[in-house]
Amino acid sequence: METQEDFPILEATRAFLAKPKRMLIGAEWSDAASGDTIDVVNPANGCVLTRIPDAAEHDVQRAVAAARHAFDAGPWRYAKPTERERLLLRLADLVESNAQELAEIESLDNGKPVMVALGLDVTMTAQCFRYMAGWATKIEGSVIDASMPYMPNSEMFSYVRKEPAGVVGAIIPWNFPLLMAAWKIAPALATGCTVVLKPAEDTPLSALRLGELIVEAGYPQGVVNIVTGYGHRAGAALARSPGIDKIAFTGSTQTGKLIGHAALDNITRMSLELGGKSAVIVLPDVDVDKAALGVANAIFFNQGQVCTAGSRAYIHAKVFDDVIGRVAQIARSLKIGAGLDPATQIGPLVSAKQRDRVCGYIESGFAEGARAVAGGGAINGPGFFVEPTVMVETNHSMRVVREEIFGPVLVAMPFDDIDTAVQLANDSPYGLSASIWSNDLSAIHKLIPRLDAGTVWVNCHSLLDNALPFGGVKQSGFGRELGRAVIDQYTECKAVMMNVA
Ligand code: ADP
Repeated sequence: METQEDFPILEATRAFLAKPKRMLIGAEWSDAASGDTIDVVNPANGCVLTRIPDAAEHDVQRAVAAARHAFDAGPWRYAKPTERERLLLRLADLVESNAQELAEIESLDNGKPVMVALGLDVTMTAQCFRYMAGWATKIEGSVIDASMPYMPNSEMFSYVRKEPAGVVGAIIPWNFPLLMAAWKIAPALATGCTVVLKPAEDTPLSALRLGELIVEAGYPQGVVNIVTGYGHRAGAALARSPGIDKIAFTGSTQTGKLIGHAALDNITRMSLELGGKSAVIVLPDVDVDKAALGVANAIFFNQGQVCTAGSRAYIHAKVFDDVIGRVAQIARSLKIGAGLDPATQIGPLVSAKQRDRVCGYIESGFAEGARAVAGGGAINGPGFFVEPTVMVETNHSMRVVREEIFGPVLVAMPFDDIDTAVQLANDSPYGLSASIWSNDLSAIHKLIPRLDAGTVWVNCHSLLDNALPFGGVKQSGFGRELGRAVIDQYTECKAVMMNVA
């Protein structure tokens, strides 16, 4: 196997890539029972980096059984909150002390610039574990006075305990592989749940390295299990397993619907963080240069492979030409290259399939009458690169405007009045996020409640924090990750009534 990276990487990264990849099931590192493997490809050059086990039903059920046993038999679910806190803090420290290696693995596997992987993905991962460590000691129930008119002489002591939801099946996407693993594993570990994680088949490596760090941190066996494999096989087996108590999914709306159906069959609780087609609304009072930079970052960050990507820009007609002209200039100036090149601003897309999908959308835009003022297609080469693309003369009947592209493609439309901007912004099956660019406080405050979105940013976009709830409305899903809100998603209330008469 040949990684063919042209840039230096740590010896530790090289050693990790070179060794056989196995799944973490209970206390063991396992191959798939079939012995089948999946190639993991470096999107910067199309070369095979390594191979991972191709898990099937049997492997997934073994992992679920390990998680079930670790939950039912204890002692994990009864561990003291301070012990859950201690281990999460230890895991955060381990992520930090292996930060460069994790960032290189992420960059090689996903394609993203290594500086982004280090500064954002890995840093936020460590902070996520640390933030959730804080919650472990702050999960509280309540004491409630019951009335019960049919028992007038009763004397009751009633209270509500918050208990771990149980075994969590977590299925995550390929755009922020390590961070998405943390978003699921951290609240599960804070609350005393056990986990079976299935990373995306395109980007499984950082999750497997995280599995090693989880073992090193000293978690009891079976508390975290990691299975690798295809969505339609390993993912589907996990989603329909009667052995899990909750499914936590991040990915496309299409796959989310399949998972939702499977979960419903077993009445498995679920949280679904799905697709988006987020609106960026630029009001006429903006500083053109600042707004253009913001609009460009909103779409091109992470090659546009972000569920909150600002992929539809509605720009007031008064400033439309100036803002879009500047966004197009920025798009053309971005340095495209391998993620490991420190100068790279735009890396390859994650896979040939994703590149072709994105280019198919761009072509559909042209066929439906749109025009590109920057970019417009793939870049030839062994890697999976797509030019940062800005499309104008677009409208709401076009697929490029209605559907999630998940690539570096912006569609832009002018508007004349705020009601039209709101109507267009909300004319989408999705409702994950939106941003407003203006310094007109009154207009901003009036606009925020009118937007169908789980998050609204003002003069910024795609900024997430561990302390703020994150999730969508409409077909962007339900349930919230991060913040206080996620603790409710990983715990269940138990009501207790004690007759003390
Ligand atoms: P994409 O199509 O871009 O790969 P998905 O939403 O399908 O995005 O993938 C997100 C995650 O869902 C991945 O881990 C993938 O393996 C998994 N997945 C895909 N299809 C299914 C399925 N039918 N059941 C369960 N998981 C799935």
